[in-house]
Amino acid sequence: MQKIIAANWKMYKTRQEARETAAAVAAALNEQPAPHEVVVFAPFTAIAEVADAFAASPAQAGAQDVWPAVEGAFTGEISPRMLLDAGAVWVLTGHSERRHVLGESDELVGRKTAFALEQGLKVMLCIGEKLEEREAGRLEAVLRRQLDSGLPAGENALEGRFAVAYEPVWAIGTGKVAGPDEVLATHAVVRRLLCERLGEAGNGIPILYGGSVKPANAGSLIGLDNVDGLLIGGASLDAQSFVQIIRRA
Ligand code: PEP
Repeated sequence: MQKIIAANWKMYKTRQEARETAAAVAAALNEQPAPHEVVVFAPFTAIAEVADAFAASPAQAGAQDVWPAVEGAFTGEISPRMLLDAGAVWVLTGHSERRHVLGESDELVGRKTAFALEQGLKVMLCIGEKLEEREAGRLEAVLRRQLDSGLPAGENALEGRFAVAYEPVWAIGTGKVAGPDEVLATHAVVRRLLCERLGEAGNGIPILYGGSVKPANAGSLIGLDNVDGLLIGGASLDAQSFVQIIRRA
């Protein structure tokens, strides 16, 4: 399966900053093509800039969130149709900052995932446990709950348009990377849960790791079984650092 290396720019970058960073990433990929799928999840205001900068490169633009309706009285929200119109190919759902800082429920994440897929976006569903949940032995129960509620019911053609990003909450933006043994073991759990839910098709769903990935640790993480890509926050804001991660992955 083709690996996915994805940047989450969170709430950073003006349009000009986004254009410059995306253009530098596109130039590097054109000079030396990468065997991976490369995606940048940009803030809403910068999606079109990123999509334009990537037009002549294999990289793709994505959005960090979406609302599950075609249009309507949802002040402050954005629809799949608007994201596609801006040039987004992918969207993130259930990022830990949306779940734990902004209070998004499993149920809402599931509705967003299902609707975005139905409307033609590719979806990267983020899951991950808090430290206290891991320490209380609830890792598998949390991941099962997030996958069960996040995966669209009856959906059986997810290959190529759905991915899961496993991001332990305690490793996001903290500089604490999950150790290789933890990543290996947890990705095996996610794979098993996907196969329990989707049968053989579960083996075709990419599972990305996210949480304090840097150029220095990207190579060892991507080499682990069932690590089919990386989702990078802080270290993706700088084009050079993101390109280094792409090269090492
Ligand atoms: C993220 O925002 O998804 C993330 C993994 O952030 P960081 O790489 O900064 O930990």
